Amino acid sequence: MTEPAKAKVDMEKLVSLCRRRGFIFPSSEIYGGLSSCWDYGPLGVELKRNIKDAWWRAMVQQRDDMAGLDSSILMHPQVWQASGHVEGFSDPLVECKGCHRRWRSDELGGDKCPECGGELTEPRLFNLMFKTFVGPVEDEASVVYLRPETAQGMFVNFENILNTTRKRLPFGIAQIGKSFRNEVTTGNFIFRSREFEQMEIEFFVRPGTDQQWFDYWVEERLNWYAGLGIKRENLKLRPHDKEELAHYARACSDINYLFPMGWAELEGIANRGDFDLVQHAKSSGKGLSYYDEEAKEHIVPYIIEPSAGVDRTFLAVLCDAYDEDEAEGEKRVLLHLHPDIAPIKVAVLPLSRKETLAPLARDIYAELRQHWMVGYDEAQSIGRRYRRQDEIGTPFCVTVDFESLEDKHVTIRERDSLRQIRVPIESLKATLQAKLDGEDLFVLPDGGKIWKE
Ligand code: ATP
Repeated sequence: MTEPAKAKVDMEKLVSLCRRRGFIFPSSEIYGGLSSCWDYGPLGVELKRNIKDAWWRAMVQQRDDMAGLDSSILMHPQVWQASGHVEGFSDPLVECKGCHRRWRSDELGGDKCPECGGELTEPRLFNLMFKTFVGPVEDEASVVYLRPETAQGMFVNFENILNTTRKRLPFGIAQIGKSFRNEVTTGNFIFRSREFEQMEIEFFVRPGTDQQWFDYWVEERLNWYAGLGIKRENLKLRPHDKEELAHYARACSDINYLFPMGWAELEGIANRGDFDLVQHAKSSGKGLSYYDEEAKEHIVPYIIEPSAGVDRTFLAVLCDAYDEDEAEGEKRVLLHLHPDIAPIKVAVLPLSRKETLAPLARDIYAELRQHWMVGYDEAQSIGRRYRRQDEIGTPFCVTVDFESLEDKHVTIRERDSLRQIRVPIESLKATLQAKLDGEDLFVLPDGGKIWKE
């Protein structure tokens, strides 16, 4: 396949920015780090939380057909038997160094790739699930797994949610949480790690309407990424071929993003049919079905699953937001982050460190902090401070100068347009709120609004 475009930023620059500014650190760094595990620092934790909040708002809060869940990471081991994870991931596999096809080593006749004749790697256990034990005895009876996906928690709670929420088909269950996979090939920063977070939906529909709902969710999820500010040309849909589909899937499409290493999966959307409910009903002996009042019969819903990665979304929004340009006569690095997800919404900057400005600037800082994550910076020149805020994606800076003491006005400086407007302190909060909501206006002390051209 020809690569149509190239990402604007390379991974090294992003990793370095993330480290330098406190978005992401290697895990246990003072001990040399732990391969493919990462810690989200003061700015990273804010950006990550904002991404999760944006997803929850759009997928749960603003819909009337969705119920939230936070199920436990450790689950009954039978869950993973029924789902196929225990069996499906525990074979010793070898990988062809040429075409990267994987083969079960115990089924191979020779020591070359049957597909292309390439050289093979040593056999490795490719079961992706981390195993641990509950209780004090480490024997087979006490084995549990760290979940490799959040999905199973939603399938096994299907009946609980149906009974407690009285939802009617079609409806969904949504969950955000940690998942763990003992990935064999890791790398590309937070793209593929062994501990990561997922944002998953299991959407239950009537059989026969599944294709229509599958199409709906593909569109809905693409729109969500665009709403986060990701450019549409950097998103691409990749429908799976029939041969590529997992055994349970009737259809699957990946939403791919143009990462620095090329197009790669951001989210997978699958039509899982009735596989999961049927498997868990068989394995648990519970009838996991839905009683259709009109038809007076039990049906097993089909499931559409949009499954997204928090960390991959984090990486995608950073890649997409990264830019370098010139501002106020200097080169600058900036993140055009959407205000909804920017870690710091506003930074308060007294023009000088002189004691006379500090009380007013600190008062403004204290007031704005009641509403958003706000930064305060008085070190070095104002230009340097603007640069620092641009580099972490702060959409607005508020500058307090000596005139502010007299006229009770401050300057709002916009990250992207570099426009500066002077507003009364009295209506600063309302003006910033309007701007954070995407309205290009400012608010007068009496509450009146003036639209900017
Ligand atoms: P890949 O083929 O890239 O490993 P996958 O097809 O195994 O991904 P799914 O099982 O469909 O991934 O998981 C759904 C989503 O969870 C992915 O689209 C991705 O965003 C996220 N995800 C899966 N594995 C990882 C990982 N190791 N690190 C970070 N995110 C992950």
